[in-house]
Amino acid sequence: MIKDYFHIIKTLLQPNQICESVEDIPLEALRYKGYHVMFVDIDNTLVPYDKRSLSLQKMQWIEQVKSLGFTVYIVSNNSSHRRIQKIAEQMGVSGLYFSMKPFTMGIREFIKEHYIDLEKSLFVGDKLLTDIIAGNWLRTHTILVDPLDKKLSFFKTMQRDMELFLLSKL
Ligand SMILES: [Mg+2]
Repeated sequence: MIKDYFHIIKTLLQPNQICESVEDIPLEALRYKGYHVMFVDIDNTLVPYDKRSLSLQKMQWIEQVKSLGFTVYIVSNNSSHRRIQKIAEQMGVSGLYFSMKPFTMGIREFIKEHYIDLEKSLFVGDKLLTDIIAGNWLRTHTILVDPLDKKLSFFKTMQRDMELFLLSKL
């Protein structure tokens, strides 16, 4: 019984892939495998917390993702609609803000509305406890990237330490 729970937790926490940054994601290989949808986190994955727009480098990356044939959707837990809306416009994509990751109810509704094939979807984010759990719960291919801003607040540092500890135990 306990073994079963451990197995479920491990399944939810284990990213399918770990990359140093989004630029290191092997896009061509994943596209070749049939993946054509990308859910992507914003804060600290594409944009540092204190920035309101994408850097030129990240803009170029998004253009590359799109040119390979991926449909990109933002899945952000940030509650600032204006900020996320502005970033989404800059990226030329749609998606969800205040998505309540790791819970998937909101995301599932969005998926239904957009007829998204989860088996062909990637889920990219910097947090094990929100992005990776949500992505695994949805049975997407999950990719953990290093957070852009490594100078985190006390609470976030604690969370990051816990995530690193969990990763080392998987
Ligand atoms: Mg994030």
